[in-house]
Amino acid sequence: AAPPGSPEGLAPHADPHPARHPDDVRAAELDRAHVFHSWSAQGALAPFVLAGGSGSEVWDHAGRRYLDFSSQLVNTNIGHGHPAVVQAIQMQADLLPTVAPATANLTRGLAARAVVAHAPAGMHKIFFTNGGADANENAIRLARQHTGRDKVVSLYRSYHGNTGAAVVATGDWRRVPNEYARGHVHAFGPYLYRSDFWATTPEEECERALRHLERVIQCEGPASVAAVLLETVVGTGGVLVPPDGYLAGVRALCDRYGVLLILDEVMSGFGRTGAWLALDHWGVRPDLVTFAKGVNSGYVPAGGVLISDAVAATFDDRVFPGGLTYSGHPLAMAAVVATIETMEREHVVENAARIGADVLGPGLAALADRHPVIGEVRGLGVFWALELVADRATREPLPPALVARVKSEMMARDLLPFLADNRIHVVPPCVVTDDEVARALAVYDEALTVIEGEL
Ligand code: PLP
Repeated sequence: AAPPGSPEGLAPHADPHPARHPDDVRAAELDRAHVFHSWSAQGALAPFVLAGGSGSEVWDHAGRRYLDFSSQLVNTNIGHGHPAVVQAIQMQADLLPTVAPATANLTRGLAARAVVAHAPAGMHKIFFTNGGADANENAIRLARQHTGRDKVVSLYRSYHGNTGAAVVATGDWRRVPNEYARGHVHAFGPYLYRSDFWATTPEEECERALRHLERVIQCEGPASVAAVLLETVVGTGGVLVPPDGYLAGVRALCDRYGVLLILDEVMSGFGRTGAWLALDHWGVRPDLVTFAKGVNSGYVPAGGVLISDAVAATFDDRVFPGGLTYSGHPLAMAAVVATIETMEREHVVENAARIGADVLGPGLAALADRHPVIGEVRGLGVFWALELVADRATREPLPPALVARVKSEMMARDLLPFLADNRIHVVPPCVVTDDEVARALAVYDEALTVIEGEL
């Protein structure tokens, strides 16, 4: 069973509309008969049925519409069903729906160039994958091959995916059982609200987190450490925005000890934080960047590793042993090209930045003024968390049963939320409008009022 406090451990939401369309009933029945779900005890599941979507909205077969403030799994950055991307996938399917990884293909080349155009300087090559976990898997492999070292340091509060090395690098409960743990080490990162360093200011938290990371590298033996792997902004672990100076400090530590810096931008990349990549906010220069999700809004599974010129050069005359049948799959690549072009043309990243700074950030802060159950609001762009507490003074997390009630109250008001542990992650598509944010804030307000009455 999922551990208490995890989103999957929460009770299923109350069905908000008991009179259901026959296709909703059929979808639910087929799902329960044959689909084995991620991160879940299968017995008590009652998955929500979705039939369609457009922009920031999704609907069931009965046509009941919901505001999608989860972006599914924080990936539909350009919203659901964008016609330009759907059409690009259809055209590619007509032309050549699959191609071997060893071939050169124009769509794949265009997709690589489109991603590189938004990458930090000195990164020109991409290894394409099927998603985020295998992007991290191959970034770790590249780092080990390049440095000839073994260990990877990542954070206890992190999620990097659910394949062999990625799940071991992950710090949250999903890494259990931990049978491939050799070569992986965990450290604490900055998280001022629940500081592991007894810090009271962002500056203290930053300095102490860096000193701790350096001690971990020193104690492990720097000559054995291949890479430090970090989410630029920790996502699933709580939308933890690093204090200014942290990433530059980690870069300096990596340089001091000859360690590579891998930044995981799977959730934070492609507009989510109001920048193309979250690393743009701090101007940090990593050696490897992993991405997936928002790169094509998840319309076709895709991910990849952006590789610095120095690391790429290692493999000019040496074989890279990694490979995937669907590396740079043409349908996924057509979706990448169309998604990035759409984001550029429609100023989607700018919209996410403006919404975060002018609408969502102030709106959530105003909500916190009214609701003592909100312990902290943090985030940027369209990437926010409300940390829910039973008591603001002690910061005791809101109990799981009440977090589950928050979810059902929101669903009953036609909003699809994203909840993790004692937090609401406010993660709409980057194309969300002012009006949709206003509707969502009203739903949060009402749901939290109900829950406070039950505390
Ligand atoms: N890295 C981060 C930061 C993520 O948030 C996720 C998924 O949520 C992953 C990696 C894994 O991506 P995927 O599920 O596509 O394998």
